[in-house]
Order: sequence, then C-alpha cells, then structure tokens
Amino acid sequence: MHLAEATWTDADDLETDLALLPTGSTEQHGPHAPMGTDALSAETIASEAAARFDGEVVVAPTVAVGVSEEHRHFTGSLWVSEDTFRSYIRDTVASLASHGWERVVVVNGHGGNTDALREVCGAITRQDDAYAVPWTWFDALDFEEYGVDLGHGGPAETAFVQAVRSDLVREERFDEAATGAGDAFGEFEQGSNLAYDFAEFSETGNIGDPSDGDAQLGEQLLADATESLVALLETVSERDLTRPAHR
Ligand SMILES: [Zn+2]
Repeated sequence: MHLAEATWTDADDLETDLALLPTGSTEQHGPHAPMGTDALSAETIASEAAARFDGEVVVAPTVAVGVSEEHRHFTGSLWVSEDTFRSYIRDTVASLASHGWERVVVVNGHGGNTDALREVCGAITRQDDAYAVPWTWFDALDFEEYGVDLGHGGPAETAFVQAVRSDLVREERFDEAATGAGDAFGEFEQGSNLAYDFAEFSETGNIGDPSDGDAQLGEQLLADATESLVALLETVSERDLTRPAHR
C-alpha cells in the first residue's frame, strides 16, 4: 500500500509490520537519461516487490534528493549532506515504526547513498524502536550475467528507464553520451581515488555507452531486482529482532 495514495483509515486497517522506504537522487545521468533515474528505479522496484510479496507491505514516499554533491558541476543536480540525509532517514523510519511498521527495508537506487544508509540503519537498529536494513538494487545483481557494466547513466540504468518510462530517454543523444563518457568511477592511482567530483572523469556525466542496453534488458533487470527484494522481504518479515545478549 502506497502511503501517499492511501487514507489514514486505510493505513489503520493494515495488518503488517513491514515497510519499504525508497531512496534515490536527483542528479545528472548524462545528456540522455533523466535526473530522476535513481528515484524512479527505487520507487518502481519497491512498488513491484510490494505487489508481488505475499502479504501487506507499506510503501513510503520516495526520498528523491540524496548524497550527490559529486555531481554538482552538472546543472540541476541536487544534494544534501550525509548528516542531513541520515537524520531524514532516521526520523522517517521512526515515524513509520510509531505506527507499528517497525521492519523497514530502505530500497535504494543511488550509489552515493549506500555508506550513509548502512550507517544510519545500524544506528536505528541498535538504538531506536525499529529494525532497518538498506538494499541497493544494483548491488543485488551480478552484471556479468547481463553482459554490461553498471556504469552511471550507462547501459543498465538507461535500459531500466527505457523499460519503465521510455518517454524520458533521449535516444538521439546516445552518440553524444558515448563520446563524452568516463571509463570508471574516479581516477585510480595506487589504489587511491584521486578524484572527488564526477566532472573530473566524465565530460557528459555518464559512464558507459547507453546504446549497449535496451528496454528488454531493462525489463530483465526490473524482474530480477524485484525477485531479489521479495526474497529479502520474506527473510526480514520472519527475522528475530531481539539483539544478541552481552557475552
Ligand atoms: Zn543512477
């Protein structure tokens, strides 16, 4: 059940302790894919998994601005600090838990959010009245199986958007994106990443050639990510939430 579409009385009738909180970003994904790509992917997978799961699941509204300062040189990219992001997630999970939805999976679509999510979900679980665990859709999949790299606004993410919102993909700009793409998420030297901003290693803001994917690949990614999240929900729904005793 999507909270944003339900009434409070609908929510009151629900018998579940499970909630999904989608998180994404609003950041450039090259000249061809929308800035809402990560929020769209997280929200879509959360919706599909909630529909497939055998039982009721609350789907909270998507947190659409994340930890994305590295994209600041590309117009329109928005970001909040890690502190702000963690606080926002923690308070939102606390309000979900106050209604009895105390098992929360944060469904994430943006790589820059992952460290902050792992940290805050640990703090919530240890110190608050909820159990929270982050799940990032592309970390759940093995991209070698699909014959593409994840990239950024590359074949995988672009394919995903082609599958669910093809109107938002500018295929006529794929050549431009391929020409300006970066090779990797940084400038690696002796195991250290020397770059902090995306504009240091990608001219057009993407990594990977978006024309290497298509809507069919996107459908497969959506199906496989949904299956993974449903399996995780089944495990989380049955997990013993008591913390270990002191040794
Ligand atoms: Zn993305």
